[in-house]
Amino acid sequence: MDQEREKWQALRDEYAENVGKSVVARLETRGYKARYAATAEEARQILFSLIPEEASVGIPGSATVRELGLMEALAKRGNRIYQHWDPALKAEEKAGRLKDELNSDVFLSGSNAVTLDGAIVNIDGTGNRVAGLAWGDNRLIIVVGVNKICRDVESALVRVRDVATPPNTQRLKMTTPCATTGFCSDCNSPQRACRAVLILERAPFGRDAHVIVVGETLGF
Ligand code: SF4
Repeated sequence: MDQEREKWQALRDEYAENVGKSVVARLETRGYKARYAATAEEARQILFSLIPEEASVGIPGSATVRELGLMEALAKRGNRIYQHWDPALKAEEKAGRLKDELNSDVFLSGSNAVTLDGAIVNIDGTGNRVAGLAWGDNRLIIVVGVNKICRDVESALVRVRDVATPPNTQRLKMTTPCATTGFCSDCNSPQRACRAVLILERAPFGRDAHVIVVGETLGF
């Protein structure tokens, strides 16, 4: 990176740290064990320290977790990984994987959005991810890039529909309008991806709930 670009990147990094640490402080008041990681590598090290090597790890649909290379890295250190993003899976096998994800020792997920005051906002099509975020007797770990931070729940919901979902439906080659227009038109498509909305206002009662806010752009 040349000197000029380094200067601008340093400003972006400082902003990311400011806003990321602000959100971490709010998340802590809402019952989460929250940490700020300046880089993806730092986030990986924190996650390794939170996930025992013998633990099974359920990974729902999350571009962030995959972008961090966690599936390969965790599998390499011996963790059993359950995930359903495998196009070769038959319908009944996929259903089994979805249940295994929810029943793993650790449920490791991204989030569509997080607000400045610490609400965690997600919209789901199948409902498995919002189910695992809302309830489980396992450890919950949410990892989220600073690009997911929104002022409030209203802007978070707009973000999910206009920013997070279009590239996902595009990735899956779905026939929803947003897959080609790049924005939400509140469709009634048979493939509509937006079906279940979850707003976690606080960490759920009794849950060992962690959030890692990463000072980089991750996922959609
Ligand atoms: S409601 Fe339809 S158009 Fe809007 S983001 Fe969801 S799938 Fe896309």
